[in-house]
Amino acid sequence: MGLNGLAVLLFLGAATAYVELKLREDLLQELTQDLDVRARLVRAAVADEGAAPEAAVRRLGQLGNTRVTLIARDGKVLADSEALAAEMDNHATRPEVRQALQTGHGAALRHSATRGLDYLYVALADPADAALPVVRVAVDARVVDQRLSSIRNSVLAVVAMLLGAGLALSVLAARYLVRPIQVVRDAAERIAGGDLDANVSLDRSDELGELGIAFNAMSRELRSRVGQLDANRRELAAIMDNMSEGLLVVDANGVVIMANRAALQMLGRPNENLVGRALWEAVRLPEIDEMLHDLPTLNEPRRLRVEDRSRATQRRVLAFVATPLFESGSGEPHGVVLVSDATEDQKLLEMRQDFVANVSHELKTPLTSICAYVETLLGGAAADEAVRQPFLEKIMANASRLSKLVADILNISRLEGGVSDESRRQLDLNELAAAVVKKHQDDATRKQVALRLHAMAEAATGLVNEEDMISALDNLVDNAISYTPGGGAVDVRVARSGLGLLLEVRDTGCGIPAESLPRVFERFYRVDKARSRALGGTGLGLAIVKHVALKHGGRVEAESEVGKGSTFRIHLPASSHPERE
Ligand code: ADP
Repeated sequence: MGLNGLAVLLFLGAATAYVELKLREDLLQELTQDLDVRARLVRAAVADEGAAPEAAVRRLGQLGNTRVTLIARDGKVLADSEALAAEMDNHATRPEVRQALQTGHGAALRHSATRGLDYLYVALADPADAALPVVRVAVDARVVDQRLSSIRNSVLAVVAMLLGAGLALSVLAARYLVRPIQVVRDAAERIAGGDLDANVSLDRSDELGELGIAFNAMSRELRSRVGQLDANRRELAAIMDNMSEGLLVVDANGVVIMANRAALQMLGRPNENLVGRALWEAVRLPEIDEMLHDLPTLNEPRRLRVEDRSRATQRRVLAFVATPLFESGSGEPHGVVLVSDATEDQKLLEMRQDFVANVSHELKTPLTSICAYVETLLGGAAADEAVRQPFLEKIMANASRLSKLVADILNISRLEGGVSDESRRQLDLNELAAAVVKKHQDDATRKQVALRLHAMAEAATGLVNEEDMISALDNLVDNAISYTPGGGAVDVRVARSGLGLLLEVRDTGCGIPAESLPRVFERFYRVDKARSRALGGTGLGLAIVKHVALKHGGRVEAESEVGKGSTFRIHLPASSHPERE
């Protein structure tokens, strides 16, 4: 029923009580006046009866449906229509009688000792004639109650009817107004709970029906927008996850908001969730904290290159580019951090630095010698024939060393430059090897080293840069003869290896210690520096061989045993073989 119902009931109760009180008063007043009239009539009738009024009193009582009592002025009951006067006590103290004796008129609503019931009494005493008895009439007070209760019943009936009508109305209202609103509310709650498929079906043509239609349109629109957003989000996630660069978004405090797969991979945390953690702490690189410091206030990207020291096994250098992001979704300043693996970059950079240092060092030695000899000659030694000749020869030797060095440096720079090489031709490697062997035959003979060529029976045609390939083979044969003592042998072989071709130079020379073998292809690496120099080596020969092989899509290989000899091989891939093209 609720609070409203309770209030209505309270109001109805109070109103009924008030009306009842008022009615009761009015009824009593009306009845008193009525009794007053009856008393006058009785008084007139009794006056006519004379000395024996009992019978008249009884009759009048019956006729008027009223109790009639005659009371002498001293209180003695003379006659009563419903009781025996002789048995009744003195009535002088009855309030209505006392009042009548004093004022001529009295009324009282009280309990009757004689009848044992509540009566409304009205008594009259004629003030003009003191000899006349007091006439008292009375009616059962229940008359008032009966009338009141009949009125109350009518009121209650009306109230009940009203309540019934109200109830029926509220049921109708619930059916036609509240139900549809509940349906819409339930659907709205489902949508709020994430169920975007919630719809309402109100089969009505009034405003509520329109509300239902508008609601469904709204939920449709919401579905389509959310679907669109979801698709965008998935597309973005796919792009981010398939990027080869690591991408991180951090807030103003350097806390990770978003990280793609590549970023986690590069930071060495592939299976961790960095979101919500401070970036520098999570990856244990304090430099990052500095890089991200004040990032939102910057106008330009900040770059950082750090060596990841957390990995003992593999050296790894990471490059970070942090850019402030002002227009972030939340309105707060964020930063975007791109991470890339700069290990190879760093290696190249360091190699270049090493190379420059090595080149300077290599150039410096012969230049210093030349300067010293020239200075001595200028200082007067030039006049001395015995000194001048050997000095000029020394200067010549150093100058040609310098020249060889510069040629090798230019050569290796060109090979490393990665510029695509258009000048390749189909060549028979047998012929190429034969030319190189022929070139070195005299040197070999002078050193008493047997230099032999083992060519392939058929043509070993490959797509090669003639100059480069000759220079590679030349270096190998040159080394082989240089490091092989007299009585030894150098065998140059051209062969097929799998689908590709093979150039092999085998010697019976001094060999290379196992620990040096992996390094002989490095630039400027020499097992024995003094010996190499004495032999006129630059330390770049094998590096050139390696680069020529790589440039042709092939590779180099070295085997050696100290005291027994070394074998160097250049493998060329099948693609440089014409039959495969
Ligand atoms: P170099 O100009 O000094 O010969 P290379 O790059 O050609 O420079 O060779 C590097 C080093 O490898 C040489 O200094 C030498 O110690 C070693 N080496 C190269 N070829 C041979 C070989 N056939 N036998 C023994 N040692 C060799």
